[in-house]
Amino acid sequence: MSYVADLPPWAALTLYLSHVDAHLISGCEVTIDIRKDALVGLASVQHSFLRRTLGLSSRSLTTVLFTETGLWPIHYRRLSLALHFLLYVVTQRPQLPLAAVAESRWLALNGSASWLGDIHFALQQLPAPVMLPLLRPLTQDVITLCMQHLVDSMRSSLAQDVLASQRLVVLQARPPGRGVLARREYLGINCAPHRRAVCRLLASEHPFAVERLRRRTQPTPRNWRICRFCRTQDAIENEEHVLMLCPAEPLRRIREPFMRDVHQILRSHKRAVGISSPLLFLIEMLGHDCTLGRTGQYVYDIFQCCDAIPLLVVTSMEQLLSYATQ
Ligand SMILES: [Zn+2]
Repeated sequence: MSYVADLPPWAALTLYLSHVDAHLISGCEVTIDIRKDALVGLASVQHSFLRRTLGLSSRSLTTVLFTETGLWPIHYRRLSLALHFLLYVVTQRPQLPLAAVAESRWLALNGSASWLGDIHFALQQLPAPVMLPLLRPLTQDVITLCMQHLVDSMRSSLAQDVLASQRLVVLQARPPGRGVLARREYLGINCAPHRRAVCRLLASEHPFAVERLRRRTQPTPRNWRICRFCRTQDAIENEEHVLMLCPAEPLRRIREPFMRDVHQILRSHKRAVGISSPLLFLIEMLGHDCTLGRTGQYVYDIFQCCDAIPLLVVTSMEQLLSYATQ
């Protein structure tokens, strides 16, 4: 089902924040989400909207929905707003809510169910647990520090997801200085097919054998997913190989004009880019306003080239050994 029309990401994300987010955070200050399945429905709406915004399928990893848009996973956002409410009560001291928080803290310290006890429990259930020290007086500094730890927990959880994934190799090449969570520059590429190609590349939704042959009912062993273009037994058809390294003629015909163009653009904008790895170069090209449009076109052209040539499906060791080495 389509939740969002074909909108540029800036418009879709504006609509999300103005019309969708308000429903997803409803009641978060009152009802703390302590059951793991409590947020399944809300998270499903959030994920569907963001996948549609980025042009990704329902099989894409959820991590990229946040690392590339800068939005927060809904369980972090709801918990953060609950802490904001606690901070409001502690600093502004409205009489009745303040009394309710004091009562809630007393109940939590005595092992009874309470609102503060639920917040403490929910914070402890996060992938990187966060401590709300109920034994200490709840001051502005204590709650502010807890909120900062919540942000740190979210960032470290997403960074760990990226590092642990075998599929997010392009994101792993991104320098730490660019942040784990941000609305990325390439979302501003005007041409929708080019922008969607970049999103698919970064989310491992691309047409390369390393991903396509993984999705089979009987996945092909990784070292058998060899390049359909150069057909060499030690060349796995992955992002780095196809986009930056493969010497096959159809890819070089697309890559050489791209490299000429981006170097010319960089020179004319007096930008210097260090090239310590092929994927880092690609990420850098997607991070500069002046080169991201041309890079989006390049990724799209490579995907078109892949669509025109069938995958090379290796079914036996004998077949693999029949191909030459590099
Ligand atoms: Zn190749």
